[in-house]
Amino acid sequence: MPTHEVLNQPPPLRNYNVFEADRVLAEGLEREGGGWAADRARQLGAIAGGEAIDWGMQANAVPPVLRTHDRYGNRIDEVEFHPAWHRLMELSVGHALHALPWREPRPGAHVARATLFFVVAQAEAGHGCPISMTYSAVPALRMQPELAREWEPRFTSTHYDARPLPAGVKSGALCGMAMTEKQGGSDVRANTTRARALGSGGPGGEYAITGHKWFCSAPMCDAFLVLAQSERGLSCFLLPRWLPDGTRNRFYIQRLKDKLGNRSNASSEVEFDGAWARLVGAEGRGVPTIIEMVNHTRLDCVIGAAAGMRHGVAQATHHAAHRAAFGKRLFEQPLMQNVLADLCLESEAATVAMLRLARAYDRGAGDAGEQHFARIATAVIKYWVCKRWPVHAAEALECLGGNGYVEESLMPRLYREAPLNSIWEGSGNVICLDVLRAMARGPEVVDAFFAEIETARGGDRRLDAFTGALRRELGRFDDMETRARRVVERMALALQAALLVRAGNQQVADAFCASRLDGDHGLAFGTLPPTVDCAHLIERARPQL
Ligand SMILES: Cc1cc2nc3c(=O)[nH]c(=O)nc-3n(C[C@H](O)[C@H](O)[C@H](O)COP(=O)(O)OP(=O)(O)OC[C@H]3O[C@@H](n4cnc5c(N)ncnc54)[C@H](O)[C@@H]3O)c2cc1C
Repeated sequence: MPTHEVLNQPPPLRNYNVFEADRVLAEGLEREGGGWAADRARQLGAIAGGEAIDWGMQANAVPPVLRTHDRYGNRIDEVEFHPAWHRLMELSVGHALHALPWREPRPGAHVARATLFFVVAQAEAGHGCPISMTYSAVPALRMQPELAREWEPRFTSTHYDARPLPAGVKSGALCGMAMTEKQGGSDVRANTTRARALGSGGPGGEYAITGHKWFCSAPMCDAFLVLAQSERGLSCFLLPRWLPDGTRNRFYIQRLKDKLGNRSNASSEVEFDGAWARLVGAEGRGVPTIIEMVNHTRLDCVIGAAAGMRHGVAQATHHAAHRAAFGKRLFEQPLMQNVLADLCLESEAATVAMLRLARAYDRGAGDAGEQHFARIATAVIKYWVCKRWPVHAAEALECLGGNGYVEESLMPRLYREAPLNSIWEGSGNVICLDVLRAMARGPEVVDAFFAEIETARGGDRRLDAFTGALRRELGRFDDMETRARRVVERMALALQAALLVRAGNQQVADAFCASRLDGDHGLAFGTLPPTVDCAHLIERARPQL
């Protein structure tokens, strides 16, 4: 029965261009050398703010299902997805989000790809997992040139081919990664999976892999980079789903994980029973080989977390602009302005850091300083941006009040996804310890990090003072492991502040330095000092429909 008129509910945030609505992203894309991809980002932004929102809802409402056997009892080990999952995959593969820098190795390619990935991740995050792993596998695979010659054209194809068939007959292929075992994920040296040489073994040689993996996401990928113990120690292998003779490899999916979030994506437990694989890189050098992949997936964890924060900001500022309480729109209420502005600030700092980091991947090949910077900044930024996301998501959700607690608002999905990026590819502590390891290797890495911060010297006195204190803190070696989170957090804040000062928006840089460096801030979001121009920060971030 139509009993009443619906009042004071915001219009849905859809049919908007995710890229065009994001000034911080567009400015950063240009600044970091990927401006040539703006048209592509615009095209993708329209889809991400339109039909892809529905695909994302459908793919998460109907999660993947494991089919271990066919109707006749034959093992098939296939996973069935909702058609919306395949639409999302087609979209991202079609725009080369899994391969752009390898297909088009031009300046700014990693920055361009980061921007495109950031845009699509706001529509749906789960399908980003196989996209990210395929992108990241290529640099590791290149350590075995004949395997790269065979597989790289498949992994970089922009045709999404979901058919469960041997990769050689498909128009495109995807790659996963299987490192984590039941007894340990961070400490992969504890892996028990065994690799037995078939024939003489050696780089590119054939091996039989026996053991298990406790987390193997996107098991419908066509091949996986897998760690296993061979005679010479932990080694990296390329393990395809199908054998060269066209039969299935001995790769058995035991079950799919029932996960907190990331539900559109399948994450499985697998057993290898003498599965056929080929060695990538030198035997016994599995970690240095797969680390190439891990570094790129860490970059993607940053992109995903920054995208999640941006999505939270878009939803929260949009809602507050259209919803009134106590006689004013929410975004005119001073306390709500403080919360929103603080969320916008955190999101902008994450976006700016993500794009600068992506540029280090663009420049790293020919520039030792950028390589050192990428080595340490990947871990520093990965730690901090991923750590901030869950708190940010919870606060953004609250800006929508009760509506934010309801699935249709998309905020519960964002909230459930948020802790994941910090667990993936080195959980918080492990990443902080990795920063210490990077700094212990030699002074070049620390020098490259501070050189980046020093480019903003004189731009803000609080940043200069904070950097000086940080140098002193790094100069002390007592209790370093216990202090690792404190130290890495401060490194991240100094870097973000320097990037914001350099980016040139005075109000944003000033608010960041006052609150994050100078201590003029509480423990919760919404505690910016009254000197901050909150309305400016909100208007800068709010999507204008
Ligand atoms: C949804 C999902 C999908 C995944 N997909 C994949 C996949 O496709 N492939 C894959 O290989 N893995 C995958 N993983 C596994 C993931 O990479 C691991 O869970 C992660 O590396 C942590 O390993 P763990 O779970 O064994 O935890 P542990 O290694 O047991 O760590 C537990 C906790 O202890 C901390 N810790 C560990 N060592 C130290 C130390 N020395 N000092 C202080 N603290 C320490 C960690 O930071 C963490 O907080 C996935 C995980 C999830 C949740």
